[in-house]
Amino acid sequence: MLPSTLEKTRFEHALTRQWQRFGLQSAQDMTPHQWWQAVSGALSEQLAAQPAPVQVKQQQRHVNYISMEFLIGRLTSNNLINLGWYDTVSEVLKAQGVELADVLEQETDPALGNGGLGRLAACFLDSMATVGQSATGYGLNYQYGLFRQSFSEGQQQEAPDNWHRESYPWFSHNSHLSVDVGFGGKLLKNEQGQERWQPEFTLRGEAWDLPVVGYRNGVTQPLRLWQATDVHPFDLTLFNDGQFLKAEQKGIDAAKLTKVLYPNDNHQQGKRLRLMQQYFQCACSVRDILRRHHFLGRKIAELPDFEVIQLNDTHPTIAIPELLRILLDEHQMEWDAAWAITSRTFAYTNHTLMPEALERWDEKLVRSLLPRHFSLIKQINARFKKVVEKQWPGNKAVWEKLSVHQDKQVRMANLCVVSGFAVNGVAALHSDLVVKDLFPEYHQLWPQKFHNVTNGITPRRWLKQCNPALSVLIDDSLKTEWVTELDALRGLEKFADDAKFTQRYQQIKRENKVRLAEYVQQRMGITLNPDAIFDVQIKRLHEYKRQHLNLLHIVALYRQLRDNPQLEMVPRVFLFGAKAAPGYYLAKNIIYAINQVAEKVNNDPIVGDRLKVVFIPDYRVSVAELMIPAADVSEQISTAGTEASGTGNMKLALNGAMTVGTLDGATVEIAEQVGEDNIFIFGNTVDQVKALKAQGYSPLQWRKKDKLLHAVLKDLESGLFSHGDKSAFGPMLDSLLSGGDPYLVLADFADYCQAQQRVDAMYRDQAEWTKRTILNTARVGMFSSDRSIRDYQQRIWQAKR
Ligand SMILES: *Cc1c(COP(=O)(O)O)cnc(C)c1O
Repeated sequence: MLPSTLEKTRFEHALTRQWQRFGLQSAQDMTPHQWWQAVSGALSEQLAAQPAPVQVKQQQRHVNYISMEFLIGRLTSNNLINLGWYDTVSEVLKAQGVELADVLEQETDPALGNGGLGRLAACFLDSMATVGQSATGYGLNYQYGLFRQSFSEGQQQEAPDNWHRESYPWFSHNSHLSVDVGFGGKLLKNEQGQERWQPEFTLRGEAWDLPVVGYRNGVTQPLRLWQATDVHPFDLTLFNDGQFLKAEQKGIDAAKLTKVLYPNDNHQQGKRLRLMQQYFQCACSVRDILRRHHFLGRKIAELPDFEVIQLNDTHPTIAIPELLRILLDEHQMEWDAAWAITSRTFAYTNHTLMPEALERWDEKLVRSLLPRHFSLIKQINARFKKVVEKQWPGNKAVWEKLSVHQDKQVRMANLCVVSGFAVNGVAALHSDLVVKDLFPEYHQLWPQKFHNVTNGITPRRWLKQCNPALSVLIDDSLKTEWVTELDALRGLEKFADDAKFTQRYQQIKRENKVRLAEYVQQRMGITLNPDAIFDVQIKRLHEYKRQHLNLLHIVALYRQLRDNPQLEMVPRVFLFGAKAAPGYYLAKNIIYAINQVAEKVNNDPIVGDRLKVVFIPDYRVSVAELMIPAADVSEQISTAGTEASGTGNMKLALNGAMTVGTLDGATVEIAEQVGEDNIFIFGNTVDQVKALKAQGYSPLQWRKKDKLLHAVLKDLESGLFSHGDKSAFGPMLDSLLSGGDPYLVLADFADYCQAQQRVDAMYRDQAEWTKRTILNTARVGMFSSDRSIRDYQQRIWQAKR
């Protein structure tokens, strides 16, 4: 398809209408934020006015990507780049004396996600539009995104993130797409003994669409975010039924339902409102999918031939019994026919092996909120039991493991595997562990259901947009298109020894570091030396991600500097960015510990500028876009076997950071791609971790064996970093010591320190270092999310069945 076009004068007129709408006399009267609002509004209007693409008869299945989270980040800059309108708009603004880059900085990130899972969904939408996979994203339009983070005396403070969805210029609201969703109530039986659900109250889902723009191919498809409102309160029938009053009495306020995003990452809480959000989203989305299917004149039995529903983790699992319910109760289908459709429609992506993140819902909660769905889940399970009984006759232990409904809980992952036609992990290692450790019996039953699709990142946002200087250098060096064919970056290998290229590459990294240093200076009053190693760990704060391992090494360096003030080391800046879930006290204590160590180290004259520690507050997509191009070192130090894939690792390697990492998640594949000389791998492997645990891992013995480790722990216990308060880091230290160190931080400490020494040594040889970082950029093309999407197409969505 043809790229979209923007006519300069039409855009100018649209812009004028925008400031006139503000009631202003001239463009010059706009505040910087109004400039962003006006530019985005004008662009949104111009995009909507593009001629509709010619409808080609779809041979491929349409993908419905359902996710509780879409961490899309700023949209205006992204859409400008994908549309190819950046230069035109920049010119128009320049004529008015306004810098487009400054205008774009005015946008508040739509932070409708927590971390990797939500960002993945956003990258996938970008790639589906770009590679021409017809798709709709389905999510929730939260009024408050992930909380805003600040620090007060080193402690995380949370503030609500009201991103003002009501005035976000990219939304288009389609009132005829609204869906009514029932909750609660009871099951009635008709004369034939068939169940009928009579919900207690109903909420309305409004469709709020954001445009997902493909890269210069004229494709725009929707990210449809559902927003809850009351069914019209003056509906007299409801009013006379007493249902409205009843709903009022129960205190169900529709606006509450999509008010906030739950701030947990990789951890289930089991709250009723969360289950309501899940069902609300799924009911609206399934209804919308069926509406489109019928509108196109297709038969209900053909649904799986034209539609696939991809579940991003188990959060939208309730869509499965919802589809089944509609087929049985509304289309009056027999079980076998309804099941044949349902079980060919859903595919499930697993994102974690950790038990605390695997969703289980109390049966009481499910039954009271969704009695019909609960009944259907039990029927699915009863039928599945026969399959298990045939394969493992009389084996109670296997049944208790595989059952969807066990110990008065519904197990969502099991429901997905039993009901879906495909299950995938998100990196080669992870998919292996899904089969071997999490679902071995399911794999035995249905080996053909299991797949790997290694995650990816969109090169549009994570290179072209966030690192424009490097993008220009690549444009100048390669003769081929790389933005949509990231494997083409291999062509850069031959420049790894080219003096001119190397110098430019190095200079770009330095300029990006200066840009980040200015941000840190301005926001935090800390002066950074751009010639220091910028060592970056950016990701959610989690024990398994081991920010505290990084911290122990920082404390070790600080000790060495105090012991030997003449110590020669390459100056190093340790940069962190991470939010902790508000109820995750241990994670918050780790943030506190990092901030306290930072304060001490940054102000100790012995250290000078050899060591700086900076925790940048409110880590989010726009901050990632600033930090990633400036990173020399990428910290990917999770305990082997815990990080399903990671995508931060890919973004950093692509932008020329050297990884210090364990053999975990997709870092294994990054190591394969870049080669072992171009990455710093350390630590216990998955098998070694298992062996250590089997043998009865005892952190206290590791402390005893390692003098430096002992000294570091003593420093943290002594009150040195906490004004004499010896208990300040109690939660973190207790977990590492008396708590058994569940993520084997102490077991990896020594090897981690050695890897960091290798970093220091290599950085001294700038030519060598730069060459290796260029090879990182050149060799990570396979981590484009375009490749992930093509894998999904071949292995799952469009596979012959
Ligand atoms: C990429 C990204 C993540 C995921 O980072 P990991 O290191 O893979 O956990 C989280 N948050 C934001 C804002 C991101 O851009």
